[in-house]
Amino acid sequence: MKNEVKSTCCYCGVGCGVVIETEDGRITGVRGDPDHPANRGRLCTKGATLHLTADSTYRLRYPEKRAVRGGARQRLAWDAALDEAASRFAETIRTHGPDSVAFYISGQLMTEDYYVFNKLAKGLIGTNNVDTNSRLCMSSAVAGYKQTLGADAPPCSYEDIDQAKVILIAGANPAIAHPIIFRRIEDAKAANPELKIIVVDPRRSESAELADLHLAIQPGSDIALFNGLLHVLIAEGMVDLDYVEAHTTGFAALKEIVRNYSPAVVADLCGVPAADIVKAARWFGASKASLSMYCQGLNQSAHGTHNNAGIIHLHLATGQIGKPGAGPFSLTGQPNAMGGREVGGLANLLSAHRDLGNPEHRAEIAKLWGVPFVPAKPGKSAVDLFKSLKTGEIKAVWIACTNPAQSLPNQAAVREALQAAEYVVLQEAYGNTDTADYADLLLPASAWGEKQGTVTNSERRITRVRSAVLPPGEARHDWEIVVDFARRLGAKLEHAAADRLFPYADAEAIFNEHRETTRGRDLDITGLSYSQLEAQGPQQWPYPADATAGRTRLYEDGRFPTADGKARFVAIEHLPTAEATSLEFPISLVSGRMRDQWHGMSRTGTVPRLFNLEDEPLLALHPCDMRHRGLATGDLARVTNARGAMVVRIAERVGLKKGRAWMPMHWGNQFMNTAGSNAVTSDAIDPYSMQPELKHAAVQITRL
Ligand code: SF4
Repeated sequence: MKNEVKSTCCYCGVGCGVVIETEDGRITGVRGDPDHPANRGRLCTKGATLHLTADSTYRLRYPEKRAVRGGARQRLAWDAALDEAASRFAETIRTHGPDSVAFYISGQLMTEDYYVFNKLAKGLIGTNNVDTNSRLCMSSAVAGYKQTLGADAPPCSYEDIDQAKVILIAGANPAIAHPIIFRRIEDAKAANPELKIIVVDPRRSESAELADLHLAIQPGSDIALFNGLLHVLIAEGMVDLDYVEAHTTGFAALKEIVRNYSPAVVADLCGVPAADIVKAARWFGASKASLSMYCQGLNQSAHGTHNNAGIIHLHLATGQIGKPGAGPFSLTGQPNAMGGREVGGLANLLSAHRDLGNPEHRAEIAKLWGVPFVPAKPGKSAVDLFKSLKTGEIKAVWIACTNPAQSLPNQAAVREALQAAEYVVLQEAYGNTDTADYADLLLPASAWGEKQGTVTNSERRITRVRSAVLPPGEARHDWEIVVDFARRLGAKLEHAAADRLFPYADAEAIFNEHRETTRGRDLDITGLSYSQLEAQGPQQWPYPADATAGRTRLYEDGRFPTADGKARFVAIEHLPTAEATSLEFPISLVSGRMRDQWHGMSRTGTVPRLFNLEDEPLLALHPCDMRHRGLATGDLARVTNARGAMVVRIAERVGLKKGRAWMPMHWGNQFMNTAGSNAVTSDAIDPYSMQPELKHAAVQITRL
């Protein structure tokens, strides 16, 4: 029997709606949902081939365990698997305390999955050791929004692309990483040839090909550039002083700092012509609607929070926020990094954008959950969590829907940490990830096309994810696994509230509880329900109980969610990359993405068609650097630094300055049988967001 089900693409934060076609219980096709506001029927190559990933031979179908680390995996029953996990976690907690266990989860999970993981750790066990791969992706955007605007809330919508007069794309390559957004930018340019597009990227990216101005800055010099642009805006009288006076604080202190960032100084720091800096500032300042879009190039930096603050400053200084076509717009990496943040699924957050460090917020959540308290001690963020596994401070870890053995920086250290862990549980859809090699217990989870729940995309739009087919074998939904485990663990710990903490019969019951935690908060969704999303389609938050529609744009009234209602300029200074190049490691390696692969390739790596463009990772180098090393396109080379090494094929690429290299981050042991870019990336972290500098490493490249 044929059927069709509306759902959402599981790859990037654009959040495209899809229609899944099925026949006799199998997924047979996928097409873009013409009714979904994010994509209006379009899909990129990854989304359009989702159906080809549905029957992967690498799926984990049954619970499996290893008697010894590295040994063969043996099938066992769900009851036995979850009882064993509950016993091991309970024993560890009783012996070493709640902070001896940790959960490392994923921006690919549904909001409902995230919610129960968070409640399990912070409500039942009493540890804040729950962090996520969103730490690698969006945490600097979160911290940047909170430092300047007061809340983790992207103020813009995709429709602002259609209305912008200037689009500043910095540290992002939407042509490749967010293709459906880029199609909309191309449409806007076609409809309005006067639209100015400025791209800031160390290399001439695919997005830069559309740009009217490309600023090929030195990796890590973003703050210098943004301070330099503000310098010009001030010098040329383009600051909206009335807006600054009425709606912001801290401008005078930053103005004093940017006095030192003249175009000549910034040209030197960034390695771009001073005239281009002046031109970009004039375009941005003179425009009636300037929109900035940014992603990992700003976020994955040891000063990622201030990179974000720097670009937001330009909007606050010119009043280019809360207006059609204007505002700072972070592009979300993963499909549900936003939803995870909404339920507080990070080691320093609580549900509904509450802060762990705020005693009132902790008390509110404890009351909502019906537990005596939520612990005050911050949990370990991603990089520190794995370092603590290595030292033995954390002894047992539960990893869900992510592959840290490949995706975390300084890969050798992460693998040593996993090897050192006393107990590793992996809740996964795929059994062949690098992390699976370290798992003592593997729990099969449902995947795209099978899952149910909700996700939130970059423009705050919540969409239902619907199941079209049943999971294979004995795989279960992520939330179901967590709830079953939590009930068993609660009983073993003799937790007073164990029976009533996890009463859910379905994902909708979890959504309804999450919804109640948002009442009165900036992301209030008390007006939303599954049935209403069914009837009205995807909706943007906030959507309070008395609303008839979600909000397209935030801060239109110039009031911000800070104590005094004003946005804040932050006194920021240029900082170099965490790791400087040297005689020993003279090349600046920047990591990026390919159009047809997604993250660690667990899903896209199984589709032959997605290798048509490039079938292996290629490291791009400047011709001079190639000649100097005796390298020609197609040669294999060894890329090394103090942390590790990888072997990769070299390709000459135009648009890359001397001394810089670029390579995609997708490949690892799973599909290349050698280490990927994270063999050499740095685990230096931003002090505010704790996001690591995955984007840049200093390396040497030699002919093999
Ligand atoms: Fe999926 Fe992102 Fe492509 Fe849309 S743009 S189809 S969400 S990968």
